[in-house]
Amino acid sequence: MGILDTVTDMMAGSTQHAPGNAGDDGSEGSYWCGDCGVRVRDVAVDDEGLDRDDNGTPACPDCGESMRFERASGTGCAC
Ligand SMILES: [Zn+2]
Repeated sequence: MGILDTVTDMMAGSTQHAPGNAGDDGSEGSYWCGDCGVRVRDVAVDDEGLDRDDNGTPACPDCGESMRFERASGTGCAC
C-alpha cells in the first residue's frame, strides 16, 4: 500500500486532499499497542492478518495484547 498510495497522491496533484484526512477510505481510526508502539489502521487490520477477539479488537502482532482503538482526529466529514 504505502508506495502506491504515495504515487497516487502525487498523480492526483493538488486536489483537495488534506494530509491526515482519514475519511476517504472508510478508516475511522487506528489500533495502537502502547507497549510496542505498533499502529495499525482499522481498515488495514485484515490486510495485516491480525487476530481479533470476540469484540473485534485486533491483537498486537508483536506481543498479542489487545490493541487500543484511537479514533482519527480531525475527520472533516462524518456523513
Ligand atoms: Zn504489542
